[in-house]
Amino acid sequence: MDHFLYRNGALYAEDVPVADIAAAVGTPFYVYSTATLLRHYHLFDEALEGMDHMVCYAMKAASNQAILKTLGDAGAGMDVVSGGEYRRARAAGVPGERIVFSGVGKTADEMRTALEGGIRQFNVESEPEMEMLSAVAVSMGKVAPITIRVNPDVDAKTHAKIATGKSENKFGIPIARARAVYAHAANLAGLEVIGIDVHIGSQLTDLTPFEAAYQKVADLTVQLRADGHTIRRLDLGGGLGIPYERSNAAPPLPTDYGAMVKRTLGHLECEVEIEPGRLIAGNAGLMVSKVIYVKSGEGRDFLILDGAMNDLIRPAMYDAYHDIIPVVEPEAGTEQQPYDVVGPVCESGDTFAKRRMMPALAADDLVAFRSAGAYGAVMSSEYNSRPLIPEVLVKGDQFAVIRSRPTFDEMINRDTIPEWV
Ligand SMILES: *Cc1c(COP(=O)(O)O)cnc(C)c1O
Repeated sequence: MDHFLYRNGALYAEDVPVADIAAAVGTPFYVYSTATLLRHYHLFDEALEGMDHMVCYAMKAASNQAILKTLGDAGAGMDVVSGGEYRRARAAGVPGERIVFSGVGKTADEMRTALEGGIRQFNVESEPEMEMLSAVAVSMGKVAPITIRVNPDVDAKTHAKIATGKSENKFGIPIARARAVYAHAANLAGLEVIGIDVHIGSQLTDLTPFEAAYQKVADLTVQLRADGHTIRRLDLGGGLGIPYERSNAAPPLPTDYGAMVKRTLGHLECEVEIEPGRLIAGNAGLMVSKVIYVKSGEGRDFLILDGAMNDLIRPAMYDAYHDIIPVVEPEAGTEQQPYDVVGPVCESGDTFAKRRMMPALAADDLVAFRSAGAYGAVMSSEYNSRPLIPEVLVKGDQFAVIRSRPTFDEMINRDTIPEWV
């Protein structure tokens, strides 16, 4: 569910007409709904009620500080995957005790930053990383709380580029080696082992792979406790999918997910953390773009937009589907026609949709890409020297630009031409 609905023939973001935002900030742009962000956070929080838990938003999905502050003020923790994300979360006011640090390639500098600023735990992904973290912590006179990310070798049944829980993926340690790796960690002076971490992939539309992975984590918890380790926290990762295509069966809800977590892990008396990213931010954002031209090709019409793959790369990168809807509501019974929806970038991959059925559109019409809040703005680039597009946050009848569009000068002046060129 989201807060982008038609009212009186116009698309609104909460109580603000999307066309008003377009008039104020220009196109293309991203717009997020505060109410949707908070609704999704609270759904997860409530789904785990009765268990000691923390919802740590995976901020790589959408990391604008206004979004982080919105969620952080509601009580969310953050899952960060770089020193930059750690700093951004802290700048948005999230305390270190609510930040977990994930990622396969944490550097010594990043570890130092987090240990100095405060951290809830590191989710460690390899033995070399364990040794590095221990050495860094010892050198600072600190002890780093850790979980170890296990790779449960479960097929998440999602797009190959976002599956992370099979043995061929780079993530975590093979679960079969877990007991040896935990024994190794227990011998490192700078580490305090407190739990287990698992994250099997993104955009999962079925609970079965989660349950298979969590069952393995439950068994491992019992085994590791028998080996003498303290396992008091289980980080269960993120990954719950969202309904990009409204005609498909809806993925499970956070409530169903929460019930499954309680069923598989509740008896272990552990504190649980979850790291949803997409489900919190995905449907909380639109990308709004304007038609530049309608071009008739051979046997097809192209809708050429001012937004492109550099602004929203998901269709090019993951073959992702996004609903694309007109900002002016089509009248009931309006005939639809097929369009290839493309951007101006000089690559054939700059195609958002092929033969998409839409009502007739003309130059200057506005369209909105639904479910663009997660892995949208954060993955954008300035390819083709197209300035990063602005981000806007709506709350009720208020809206504000939360990241401005750089001017052409700002973009161009980031280059330096050495005098010897
Ligand atoms: C990307 C990621 C997440 C979030 O995944 P979503 O599919 O957006 O929920 C959570 N945890 C880790 C370790 C990740 O890498």
